[in-house]
Amino acid sequence: MLSRLDQPIAAIATAPGRGAVGIVRVSAKDVSSIIAAICPRDLPPRQAVYGPFRAADGSAIDQGLAIHFPAPHSYTGEDVLELQAHGGPVVLQLLLARCLEAGASINLRVAEPGEFTQRAFLNGKLDLAQAEAIADLIDASTEAAARSATRSLAGEFSREIHALRDALIDLRMLVEATLDFPEEEIDFLQKADAQGQLERLQSHLARVMQRAHQGALLREGLHVVIAGQPNAGKSSLLNALAGAELAIVTPIAGTTRDVVRQTIQIEGVPLHVVDTAGLREGADQVEQIGIERAWGQIEKADAVVFLHDLTRADSADYQAADAAIAAKLPVDVPVIDVWNKADAVDGGVRFAHLPRLAAGHPTSDATGRVARDAGTVSEANPTDAPSITLSARTGDGLDKLRKHLLEIAGWQAAPEGVFIARERHLHALRRVDAHLMEAAAHLARQAQALDLLAEELRLAQNALSEITGEFSADDLLGVIFSRFCIGK
Ligand code: GDP
Repeated sequence: MLSRLDQPIAAIATAPGRGAVGIVRVSAKDVSSIIAAICPRDLPPRQAVYGPFRAADGSAIDQGLAIHFPAPHSYTGEDVLELQAHGGPVVLQLLLARCLEAGASINLRVAEPGEFTQRAFLNGKLDLAQAEAIADLIDASTEAAARSATRSLAGEFSREIHALRDALIDLRMLVEATLDFPEEEIDFLQKADAQGQLERLQSHLARVMQRAHQGALLREGLHVVIAGQPNAGKSSLLNALAGAELAIVTPIAGTTRDVVRQTIQIEGVPLHVVDTAGLREGADQVEQIGIERAWGQIEKADAVVFLHDLTRADSADYQAADAAIAAKLPVDVPVIDVWNKADAVDGGVRFAHLPRLAAGHPTSDATGRVARDAGTVSEANPTDAPSITLSARTGDGLDKLRKHLLEIAGWQAAPEGVFIARERHLHALRRVDAHLMEAAAHLARQAQALDLLAEELRLAQNALSEITGEFSADDLLGVIFSRFCIGK
């Protein structure tokens, strides 16, 4: 009985729906029986052969190209057959069914999601970070995200991880060797500049974390909610940011009864912007549901744009309603006060004294989800709540808002280029960082704590290896014996 990972698999590799071309892919230890059953003749390695794909009764299911990638020179590292047919759902289903039928004797089954890539990883074609980059490239929502995924796929991220790992192994070798000669340890570590090595490692790690954090931001984006009283111009602002008529704009209060969301990009960073129902008292039942949903969105946001209407800024009722909303805003979400309709008011700039209703909320780079991940949490400064005046109608001031949203996201394009990263990677990097900090503390205490130092370095290496998916328990011994001559 074959284990699941050894079973031959087949699947339609192209997106569902109609298209010019569709691909059915088979991966197995040996696909020759399927080629013999379906294809018109033998397939030379990696060459496209045109002809009919045959059904069991010899009739043609479709005409197309068949390509055989003999193991190990294939995506999965196994024997792979690709059948390129016309891209109709029925044709491709028939072709897949035919492959399963022809492969019944070798137990061919339908692949689970990601199973081809999983095999590529298990067969050493890709490491884990690269395998993840493939999924991220397919899911990329902006050009910058796609480019950074390509960088990770090409192994840029993995190479940085390997460089960190090699430096860690060098340091571990030194410390482990010192453990064997306790009487000389302090001298030995000092001579070899263990502290300098560790510091260089930490600063390299910090650079990698910065690039990975930016990559995570490109992947996840920032969730921004536009909230405020009805008619403040929330839908207009979303449209202006998106550059299209997405939400319905009308002069009647309470038009946006549900949430409208749109992903826009600023400098390649995806911003998932949500326009919500206007927050007000005394709304009818349907509108009330929209308002509840709006609050639900606000609770989950990475940032809230609290929109106010400049033309009503002098009304006491308007101010009171704004203050009531401000009092209900969750304290741990960054809020930006934005005053809209500057075009309708003489000299909008003189409104610089406008009340900062969001005062007390964390501001730029403070508590955005992604920023928190990177460990860049800074103390909120209540007096610093920003206030931006703009016109959704003319677009004046929009750039200031865009820039501020990027600041909240903690976006700074890394000069060396960003590689896509996931929360899993950031989590592992943070653990590496914590172990290296502990290691530095032990190194400072030297004699008493060398074994603890060695242990922290070992844990740091394990955390690093999780990123690329290697298990390196025995690596170290191998390196010690091959590169370090103890007997000397
Ligand atoms: P919402 O209820 O907050 O989504 O507000 P809307 O976007 O539907 O806008 C309410 C009204 O304000 C509409 O009549 C818009 O044309 C108007 N409005 C929105 N933004 C501006 C602006 O920047 N300047 C001016 N003069 N009017 C605006």
